[in-house]
Amino acid sequence: MSDTAAPAPDDLAQLRASIRGVAIGPADPGYDVVRRCFNALIDRRPAVMVRCRDADDVATALDFARSHGLEIAVRGGGHNPAGHCVVDGGLVIDLSLMRDVSVDPAASTARSQGGATWLDFDSATQAFGLVTPGGIVGSTGVTGLTFGGGLGHLTAQHGLTCDHLLGADVVTPSGKVVQAGDGGDSELLWGLRGGGGNFGVATELRFRLHPLERVVGGRYLFAGSDAAAQALRRFRDVVAADPRDLSCQTLLGNDPESGAVVAIVSPCYTGADSDTEALRTLRSSPGLVQDGVHPQSFIAQQHVFNPTYGEDRAYWKGHFVRELPDELIDTLVARMEAMGDRSPGQILIESLHGAPKDTDDDSAALGFRGAAFNISAMGSWLDPALDDDYIAWTRETAAALEPWSHTGGGYVNYMQADEPIERVRAAFGDERFGRLQALKSKYDPENLLRRNQNIPPAA
Ligand SMILES: Cc1cc2nc3c(=O)[nH]c(=O)nc-3n(C[C@H](O)[C@H](O)[C@H](O)COP(=O)(O)OP(=O)(O)OC[C@H]3O[C@@H](n4cnc5c(N)ncnc54)[C@H](O)[C@@H]3O)c2cc1C
Repeated sequence: MSDTAAPAPDDLAQLRASIRGVAIGPADPGYDVVRRCFNALIDRRPAVMVRCRDADDVATALDFARSHGLEIAVRGGGHNPAGHCVVDGGLVIDLSLMRDVSVDPAASTARSQGGATWLDFDSATQAFGLVTPGGIVGSTGVTGLTFGGGLGHLTAQHGLTCDHLLGADVVTPSGKVVQAGDGGDSELLWGLRGGGGNFGVATELRFRLHPLERVVGGRYLFAGSDAAAQALRRFRDVVAADPRDLSCQTLLGNDPESGAVVAIVSPCYTGADSDTEALRTLRSSPGLVQDGVHPQSFIAQQHVFNPTYGEDRAYWKGHFVRELPDELIDTLVARMEAMGDRSPGQILIESLHGAPKDTDDDSAALGFRGAAFNISAMGSWLDPALDDDYIAWTRETAAALEPWSHTGGGYVNYMQADEPIERVRAAFGDERFGRLQALKSKYDPENLLRRNQNIPPAA
């Protein structure tokens, strides 16, 4: 049962009367559905959730939270593994009713409301044969992902998602609407490209688009003795040649029956031929048991990974690394074997070759552009009694990566809430972190938006 101190009924009634959206308290129908996030490890009970319809609703919700002393959480797609989108006893600014995406095909740009998901975005842009490099799971929020950087099936071809962010409308904690980029505050745009939801609540984002309809993609599955390690080495060697028309990620998992380590290699090729030397090299690695790579629409590619929402308990931790030597590959495979016949979850290895390196490093706050790969241990389980085991496995796996770490910091989009500030600082580096702190002081001097990978205001 909840011990949440909900705002007085009169106050809640006044809030409801002053917004176009909906305010949901613990006694209202739908409360348990709306408070749910991707990670079932997170089970929090907000005092009120304001499902906003526009920027005025967001400003009203911010004002209500401030005047009632309620801690604030901001929710887009609800995917952040830290569960930052929901807060015990506080107020959630829920953008999930603001999901419109409109496309200007002549200008190759799109406007995306603050709560849109990648399925919303891709469906709208693909209707015109256009795309922005986004996340690989349709239910992930466009805004949350973009504000942390953004890696996916088109990273090598077009770069990071935030590199395509042209501008945004942001409601600051004081209730003022400011424009980032597009002739507005260019420093704020720099900060939004990697600095997360620290500066305000975005109600609209504007993106640059590229033409793209079909890809060759899907997944190869490798199983059997040493197959996972060999597939990883092939993947590393293929991306080392810096193919500009091939993005690629590899996932280590376990065979559900034997428990043996398997590798899922997921390429997304956008070159002229339907087959290419790079794909032939990938699939000729020993132990190919499933070849699911073929020509398909980009929308179909975006369904290659479709995890369930709100069922698995999840704990993630990782590092951007400088390189992927054999010794590290062996370490990763050994970590997958470390739980015996119990599947620990997955280890995801995302390549950062190609276009991310073409963009001026000073155009965005994020600090990982120079890394070779992002490696993430993703503990995933169902039974609450196993929480400690899985969290320990994830932490130990991340610790094993440290010798190869690019900066010592991880990917803010995959961080849990228990990361120390040193890891968040290291994700950006001291200089960028200081610049972000100055921006935070300007837009959120009281640190009201602190349910995120927090950048505290400069002292
Ligand atoms: C299944 C899954 C797949 C993923 N795939 C990818 C991937 O392919 N590539 C990748 O780079 N990352 C990926 N991620 C990570 C994801 O990008 C981050 O977790 C991101 O924070 C999720 O955004 P969200 O809006 O869905 O989450 P939420 O939990 O709703 O929000 C997370 C945080 O983002 C900020 N935020 C969200 N909306 C707004 C807004 N409108 N204004 C201001 N701040 C806002 C807030 O600080 C909020 O706390 C994935 C995560 C999961 C669980």
